[in-house]
Amino acid sequence: MKTLGHWIGGKAVESVSGNLGPVYDPATGTQPTQVALASVEEVDSAVDAARRAYEEWSQSSLAKRTAFLFKYRELLDAHRDEIAALISSEHGKVHSDALGEVARGMEILELACGIPEKLKGELSTQVSSRVDVSSIRQPLGVVAGITPFNFPAMVPMWMFPLAIACGNAFVLKPSEKDPSAPYRLAELAAEAGLPDGVLNVVNGDKTAVDRLLSHPDVAAVSFVGSTPIAKYIQSEAVAHGKRVQALGGAKNHMLVLPDADLDFAADNAINAAYGSAGERCMAVSVVVAVGDTGDELVAKIADRARKLRIGPGDDPSSEMGPLITREHRDKVASYVGGAREQGADVVVDGTGHTVEGHENGFFLGVSLLDKVSPEMDAYRDEIFGPVLCVVRAGTYDEAIALINSSRWGNGTAIFTRDGGAARRFQLEVEAGMVGVNVPIPVPVGHHSFGGWKDSLFGDLHIYGNDGVAFYTRGKVITTRWPDPAESGGINLGFPTSS
Ligand code: NAD
Repeated sequence: MKTLGHWIGGKAVESVSGNLGPVYDPATGTQPTQVALASVEEVDSAVDAARRAYEEWSQSSLAKRTAFLFKYRELLDAHRDEIAALISSEHGKVHSDALGEVARGMEILELACGIPEKLKGELSTQVSSRVDVSSIRQPLGVVAGITPFNFPAMVPMWMFPLAIACGNAFVLKPSEKDPSAPYRLAELAAEAGLPDGVLNVVNGDKTAVDRLLSHPDVAAVSFVGSTPIAKYIQSEAVAHGKRVQALGGAKNHMLVLPDADLDFAADNAINAAYGSAGERCMAVSVVVAVGDTGDELVAKIADRARKLRIGPGDDPSSEMGPLITREHRDKVASYVGGAREQGADVVVDGTGHTVEGHENGFFLGVSLLDKVSPEMDAYRDEIFGPVLCVVRAGTYDEAIALINSSRWGNGTAIFTRDGGAARRFQLEVEAGMVGVNVPIPVPVGHHSFGGWKDSLFGDLHIYGNDGVAFYTRGKVITTRWPDPAESGGINLGFPTSS
């Protein structure tokens, strides 16, 4: 069995405490790997390595930083397949989907390659006699990233390329469920010439997270994960005086108006609900069918859902892989029975689905629940699996009231041919990311990603310009070079410009 330790100070470090956790292959249900679960001392050694590396890295030229970032980009490009295979073997998602994850993560690395443009600063000359004012942004120090299982490569890459480009040193605590891909990202960064200690990976669970939250040398924390943990991270990090952005869970609605192309809407609902087995924070988990669209739309979605090919992620014919653990699979399945008992129509029932030759894998078929109402558990909870709910709404107003009453506000989408309705939706809907005929509106790397309400705690979204703002702090410099002939004179009044 493979044992994965930590990556600290530019080298592999074995577990000192001997605490280890299981890492499964969800397609077979076997446990090929065990991962170190860091003690407080192991976290401290990673933060210490980062703190020491920060001293030089924060002073390094932009030319040196971008030389590394371009080289790293080329190296990752050459290793896309390998990273995707690692993701697939521990997360379960199919290889093509894992390749998409790597590509979307690399967008942020590509943004980071242009960091000199983002760190240009501002200058105002002659704001007063012979006085100039400039604003610059400087790194924070050691920053930490705590990431979820569902995007083991992309979400860390939402964070560390920009943090490092801005001159910080980084400690990543990836999900203990699929740690091999993020670990490989750190190894490749070293191969591309990143100085030791600038990027560290400390594997672990709550013990490691809690130490990062309280460590006096950690200046900021980026978190992505479930809502209860995001809330906890924010309050703990703030209590310890840290800057924090904590992205939480979601329940994303797709509103379908009667004028929409229903085949196009059904295709998109399928892709967005069942891709990655529904384990995406931007998955569509609720379709809101407006007016008389419901029956036809449900029939079209059901027809497509029944044909989906479910199988191991490394089989090119599979369209959907297994779920992350047996426990999670069983919990997701329980919502289907629960919804039936609470009065929903189970149009497609994926529970009990098995994959030949992979009977011990954590597979679940896809489920489609119709006539779901907001009181049902399947609607109220983030299921995070291949279960799509359809809610019927009489009018657009009813539909948007439903969406806006959700506790979450991550992503949402409208499907329509009516530009006026789409425009109204963009302005009225309470969510951080909106799609118009786009079901998963994950912003490209040069915009920022973030939800509203229980989907994000903190003020700044992640990556894009918000990412640069998060990983830097402002400094404003006011300069005067007086004329040697000029006398300053005594004046105790508050300085004003003249
Ligand atoms: P999770 O909250 O269980 O875990 C996320 C991280 O927190 C992991 O590194 C984990 O080790 C750590 N953690 C877990 N329990 C902890 C505790 N009690 N104390 C301290 N740290 C703890 O999330 P997950 O199951 O890995 O990921 C799925 C969740 O992430 C879903 O809710 C999904 O919507 C959300 N997510 C959100 C976004 C977004 O951008 N908003 C993106 C991806 C995933």
